[in-house]
Amino acid sequence: MIKWDEQKDVVIIGSGLSGLSAAIEANQAGASVVVFEKMKVTGGNTRISDGGVAASNNYLQKKRGIEDSPVLFYEDMMRAGLGLNHPELVKVVAEQASEAIDWTRDTLGVKYLDRLDRFGGHSVARCLTTRRHSGADFIKAQSTLLKQKGVEIRTRCLLTRLQTDSQGGVNGVQIRSDYIFPDNNSGIVRNIHANRAVILATGGFGNDIQFRMIQNPGLDVSVSSTNHRGATAEGLIAALELKAAPVHLSWIQLGPWGCADEKGFGRGASFASYSVYQAGILVDPATGHRIINEWADRRRRCEAIFKAGHICVGIVDADGAEVAAESLKHCLKQGYVKPFSTLTELASAFEMPDGQLEMTVKNYNHRIGKGESDPLGKPLIQGAKLLVQPPFYAIRLWPKIHYTSGGVGINSKAQVIDLNNRPIPYLFAAGEACGGIHGASRLGNCSLTECIVFGRIAGQQAAAINPRHLD
Ligand SMILES: Cc1cc2nc3c(=O)[nH]c(=O)nc-3n(C[C@H](O)[C@H](O)[C@H](O)COP(=O)(O)OP(=O)(O)OC[C@H]3O[C@@H](n4cnc5c(N)ncnc54)[C@H](O)[C@@H]3O)c2cc1C
Repeated sequence: MIKWDEQKDVVIIGSGLSGLSAAIEANQAGASVVVFEKMKVTGGNTRISDGGVAASNNYLQKKRGIEDSPVLFYEDMMRAGLGLNHPELVKVVAEQASEAIDWTRDTLGVKYLDRLDRFGGHSVARCLTTRRHSGADFIKAQSTLLKQKGVEIRTRCLLTRLQTDSQGGVNGVQIRSDYIFPDNNSGIVRNIHANRAVILATGGFGNDIQFRMIQNPGLDVSVSSTNHRGATAEGLIAALELKAAPVHLSWIQLGPWGCADEKGFGRGASFASYSVYQAGILVDPATGHRIINEWADRRRRCEAIFKAGHICVGIVDADGAEVAAESLKHCLKQGYVKPFSTLTELASAFEMPDGQLEMTVKNYNHRIGKGESDPLGKPLIQGAKLLVQPPFYAIRLWPKIHYTSGGVGINSKAQVIDLNNRPIPYLFAAGEACGGIHGASRLGNCSLTECIVFGRIAGQQAAAINPRHLD
């Protein structure tokens, strides 16, 4: 018999974008809500993210007359995911993404830059970025709103177990309050009854070396990660212990824009992502040749670098670098990005074979100018930029663990499904804690979007359950 210390209608684990979106919706629907967060600081990976979201028919696309559709968005996600994605979940994201962005703008007051990006694998420019270029914009706005509504976010509270009733339905959580990450014996054990439901919004496990090596032994301590320290698997394990369906756990995504000279995500990755891959080229220094369509999805770009077998060089000219001027300034100061007056100087600094880089760039520019097709399959006529304006900037790139596509299985109501594909009663999940939406490869900016869409669904669904109050 569990001794309950407290009760709330909806108990949410994790204070990232998915958890806080769920909290706002559940509170709005009249439920009492508490959010538990194991770290000292709220926001998880969301807080350190770039704050980029993707949606077809979003308000900026409409303003600029860019044609797009949920069907095209859906097809792009499925193509990158190699069709492993669960179609019904992708459909929900593609269809609700634009409304989700409007919700963040109109209900939360999040502001976006007047800029649309086209990241690898997206057929059109459909990505928006928050004004401060950071997911902290979401966390700040959501935390403020929740505080106004009297919803508590309790930090240093680790979920250690999902509690169940005699029928196997989830009826609460065991946590350790005053927990000090990563000491799993720290803190005080408490049990919180969930009158309506529990929502798992515990994010990914990119920094859980033991758990990720169970999925892929190659991803050992030598492979660095862009994630926050707390991106570890305890929440996921608690759900797996209840026989939640594990989905795509070994599809761990690496980012092709990882800066080889900087720890974590950093500004180099931002520069490479927003500038180099959008307006420049990726070159193997051993040959001086391009190695991939720079607009391909992340998995394909990483594979190309791994195939080269050594650090590759991202190159962009002064015009292409302008879009990421702030990151560039920082990276030049730190030496992560190097400027060169000529391509010959750049080639020589990276010991490329004589004349090869110059030839590569000449051919590339020629094809763009003539509207010719690219042997590597890049659709050059769709806005590829000439590399002509010095200085030319170079950054050393090597993939880093960025995103865990796998997690617990959910259905389109955000209910966690079990090994027999049946919902586990009173348990919901959203965000990176779930698997199935992105399949083999997530397209850039689709995670934060999905966190909002499924976080909101989870909150609404959880609050709609009839309460099971303690006597
Ligand atoms: C550097 C970086 C940049 C990125 N940029 C983008 C971007 O621009 N666009 C995009 O779409 N995606 C981006 N991503 C991916 C995206 O940020 C994440 O996938 C997303 O924020 C996940 O949100 P979430 O709510 O699921 O989890 P998180 O935001 O990670 O939140 C989960 C929270 O749960 C807590 N938690 C975990 N386990 C427990 C437990 N047992 N008990 C209590 N609390 C627990 C964690 O500490 C964490 O705070 C980026 C990721 C990184 C690392």
